[in-house]
Amino acid sequence: MARTRSPIPSDLVLESTLASRLNQLRQFRNLSKKELAQAVRMTEERIDDIESGLETWLSAAERQIIAKALYIDPNLLKEVEYRPADSSHPSYASMSVEINTSLTDSILSGMRDLACPQCGNTLRCSVQKRVDINGEVIDFAKAFCQICPFTLK
Ligand SMILES: [Zn+2]
Repeated sequence: MARTRSPIPSDLVLESTLASRLNQLRQFRNLSKKELAQAVRMTEERIDDIESGLETWLSAAERQIIAKALYIDPNLLKEVEYRPADSSHPSYASMSVEINTSLTDSILSGMRDLACPQCGNTLRCSVQKRVDINGEVIDFAKAFCQICPFTLK
């Protein structure tokens, strides 16, 4: 199928998260991750981070260039972006410190099949090593939901 620049059909049901929507629109344009990465001068890893839900929002410049490469209105991306720092976001505001602490403990103790506190989907969890200001390596729990905007960082 040839690359198409036609408008997004109005009967196309758009995905509700940035990750799945970018994936959807990229495939609609018949672009591989590599091709899109080249078109927007980003690394393939960066595209992968966005499509896997690790990155939940784009800078204005990134949004513009991705939208241009996909021949879409930047607002199609903006409307599904989610900034964790935005405490007015309902799912973030309702997140208690208690839940985050218990999730962190579970991940650090090796548990992986943890349910998302927002939607119940299985979280993608990982432990990262970070060096603190004293040069000591500390374990750092990370998790994100592939369905809803929940992220533990
Ligand atoms: Zn979730």
